[in-house]
Amino acid sequence: YMQQYHTAEDALQDKVILVTGAGDGIGKVAALSYAKAGATVILLGRTVSKLESVYDEIVNAGGPEPAIVPLDLNGATATHYQQFAQTIREQFGKLDGVLHNASLLGYLRPFAQIEEKEWQDIMQVNVTSQFLLTQALLPVLKLAPKASVVFTSSGVGKTGRAYWGAYAVSKFATEGMMQVLADEYANSPIRFNCINPGATRTKMRAKAYPGEKPESLKTPEDLMPLYIYMMADDSNGVNGQSVDAQPK
Ligand code: NDP
Repeated sequence: YMQQYHTAEDALQDKVILVTGAGDGIGKVAALSYAKAGATVILLGRTVSKLESVYDEIVNAGGPEPAIVPLDLNGATATHYQQFAQTIREQFGKLDGVLHNASLLGYLRPFAQIEEKEWQDIMQVNVTSQFLLTQALLPVLKLAPKASVVFTSSGVGKTGRAYWGAYAVSKFATEGMMQVLADEYANSPIRFNCINPGATRTKMRAKAYPGEKPESLKTPEDLMPLYIYMMADDSNGVNGQSVDAQPK
């Protein structure tokens, strides 16, 4: 499936791309891969030390100098996102891409036992923050010749599954937000799509499946051809799609 998404080595040259949850897991590898393909990446996450090590890795590899944005999506307000968008406008003059990647899994448990606080935290990080961030960024996305906004879905965002609770519901909401935006901006230079990474070797997967052998899983690196393709001009015209990185 990876051959399908072949892109040039410098496919993201001169692009400015925001990655949320860029300190670990799929987001970290996406940030490194986008920089390698020529993009200036904005690394957003809540653990500064992790963002700094991604920053160092990019600079040491000779990539374009990234920006670091320490932000907890569970506490940030509309004002934070507006200020952030203003900073992007001043520093870069445009935004070509957003990878909404950060998510909270919570704990798998019966629906009857979901705690209200956990529900609200998951909805805040996985849904509301994406709404506020996307709304704030629309004006800077419009300053790019073409822009790509990619949300991160899940198998449980398309078919509900027992015990996946608020996380599953949040991923359905993510699919819905993507579809609303894709339809609304269909005749604009901004495209909106989802990627469903499928089972991938990260801390989140290990938390959900503690008994599983990590070696049996695809790595974030394996998924990168699709992640780069969705940000590159090669995917211009792809809009409103939910793409499986690991189709059955
Ligand atoms: P990880 O848990 O490994 O990484 C998630 C990243 O998001 C971390 O860097 C984390 O920061 C950050 N993050 C979490 N909460 C916040 C917050 N409140 N504010 C800012 N940053 C935050 O997850 P994966 O890499 O596995 O997952 C990436 C995406 O892929 C998610 O959307 C997930 O739902 C989706 N996905 C993953 C699958 C898998 O098998 N791995 C399967 C299907 C979907 P920190 O490091 O500081 O905790």
